Amino acid sequence: MAKHQFQTEIGQLLKLMTHSLYSNKEIFIRELISNSSDAIDKFNYLSLTDEKFKEEKWSGQVFMKLDKEDNSLTIGDNGIGMNESDLMDNLGTIAKSGTKAFMENLTGDAKKDSNLIGQFGVGFYSVFMVADRVDVISKKAGEDQAYKFTTDGSGEYEVTPVTKESHGTVIYIKLKDEEKEFLEKVRIQTIVKKYSNHIAYPIMLNYSEEVTEGEGDAKTTKMENKTEQINAATALWTLSKSELKKEDYIEFYQTIGHDSEEPLTYLHNRVEGSQEFTTLFYIPRTAPVDMYRPDFTPGVKLYVKRVFITDDDKELLPMYLRFTKGIMDSEDLPLNVSRELLQDNKVLANMKQHSVKKILQAIKKLTGEDEIQFTSQYNKMMKEGIFTDHVNKELLLDIVKYKSSTEEGMVSLESYVSRADSEQKVIYYLLGDDEKVMRNSPLLEAYKKSNIEVLLMDDKDEDGIVTPMIEKYKEWEFKDITAISAPDSKTEEEKEEIEKEFKRLTDKIKEVLGEEIKAVKTSTRLTSSPSCVIKDPDDPMVAMAGIFAQMGQAMPEAKMILEINPEHEMIKKLNTLEDEELFAEVSWILLDGAKLSEGLEPKDKGAFASRIASLATKAL
Ligand code: ADP
Repeated sequence: MAKHQFQTEIGQLLKLMTHSLYSNKEIFIRELISNSSDAIDKFNYLSLTDEKFKEEKWSGQVFMKLDKEDNSLTIGDNGIGMNESDLMDNLGTIAKSGTKAFMENLTGDAKKDSNLIGQFGVGFYSVFMVADRVDVISKKAGEDQAYKFTTDGSGEYEVTPVTKESHGTVIYIKLKDEEKEFLEKVRIQTIVKKYSNHIAYPIMLNYSEEVTEGEGDAKTTKMENKTEQINAATALWTLSKSELKKEDYIEFYQTIGHDSEEPLTYLHNRVEGSQEFTTLFYIPRTAPVDMYRPDFTPGVKLYVKRVFITDDDKELLPMYLRFTKGIMDSEDLPLNVSRELLQDNKVLANMKQHSVKKILQAIKKLTGEDEIQFTSQYNKMMKEGIFTDHVNKELLLDIVKYKSSTEEGMVSLESYVSRADSEQKVIYYLLGDDEKVMRNSPLLEAYKKSNIEVLLMDDKDEDGIVTPMIEKYKEWEFKDITAISAPDSKTEEEKEEIEKEFKRLTDKIKEVLGEEIKAVKTSTRLTSSPSCVIKDPDDPMVAMAGIFAQMGQAMPEAKMILEINPEHEMIKKLNTLEDEELFAEVSWILLDGAKLSEGLEPKDKGAFASRIASLATKAL
């Protein structure tokens, strides 16, 4: 008899489960039925495509048995089954980094944490919320030996060979004393209706019931064993929209999405014509926790004529929609379509393209709180989409949101355009890392003065690459305000006049700062700050930002231009200053201060600090 130790994280997880992390224990039934349904899906596919199994008379079924005397609940299926190593790999260890991630993401809030459980693919273990002991008896299709996996959830499990007639899995659950409610037929019916009504296979419930026979003195009662089907057993997406209510869609989502929340939105489409397919997609309210992990679980399952083909294809939808859950069911693909075939299959490509459009259109329709929630969860993904999906760029630009210099919250491009002067035809933006620093940037002063809205893109790593690629929204051009001249009311002559007046000063500052900067100029973009730094609009590197973006690279650092504010006291005084040493100190402070205002670092922080100290001493 082989005893095994659970992987450490599973040990931890089991402890959590048994100490009733859950506020919602009943979902273990949903999780086990969902596993059974998947297992039946897999065998169904084999029975239709594999010569070995084609002969077998079979129809997929989940069965449940309530045994009050034994205090046990059994959930079984005639699906693909598991052999010894499957049992150990699937139930004794967690293949993915799932559990670890689960443990890291725990919030301490029982309700939120229980939502996480399904998402991490640790569904099976939820049974330990109610079980004292669990036996998993399974036989893999096509193999001779069956095995029993037994555990009381305390850290060890055993796997032993047993006999079992047909392939499939039976999960015997010895309930804890206080969990007797799960032996009540009505309770089970309600749970199954709530979570598993629309899985594609019948769920047969076996139970005993007291029946009374005869009249008066001849009246006798006896226990009778009964079996009845307790779910609708029609794959939900095959029904027509008019037959379905919102609750049906939500219930189905919670089963396939392992989510206790309602989805943000769902869309169900049947396409007929040269190609036929049905799709049903859901956008989860909260982004899947593994969305940023390379080993994320794809949320979309592919079916062909209602036969499950795969749930492990990351290409069914573009990567930037990897948070989407749902079903794609094609009438045109061959049943035995192989993974390789799927790669560049025209039918699939067409279905994919259609799906992406529909999903984006549904997202675009979100309003109010739902729209805000979507942005908070998936805005980054939409930017990823702008970068990778040129076909749907317009739709994505209608969805993506940004922070704004004049508005609260996140704004759409459409709303920016509607607020802007229609002559403007330019969408101004500022790139940075820190919203707070950006809001105080001297570069915004001229725009504030002229009442022009500037988008604040505070995810420089991403926006720095994505935004130059956008180029235009409708006929509106995107412009980085650090690389263009600012709006002002001065004529060219007036500007030249000022430039001339301060030429001696700007030359002298340039002499002090040397190669640190490209040039020193007088500025018309500043009101309260003495100086700012900008990118050189004539620098070919700056002009090539879009090209770098297309190569997936940020623009190389180009030398900046220092602009000084001729109307500022500090600059006026500097212009007449005799003390050369002090002049140099102030020049450096003008540059370093301007850099800091943009969230950039001074070249030499130590020198910056000692200059400030020296100036402060003099001022005192
Ligand atoms: P998930 O279902 O999210 O992958 P689980 O912990 O619920 O996570 O199950 C782990 C794995 O065990 C499943 O992916 C599947 O391979 C296997 N498994 C669970 N239940 C069954 C079953 N009834 N029949 C066949 N395999 C199963």
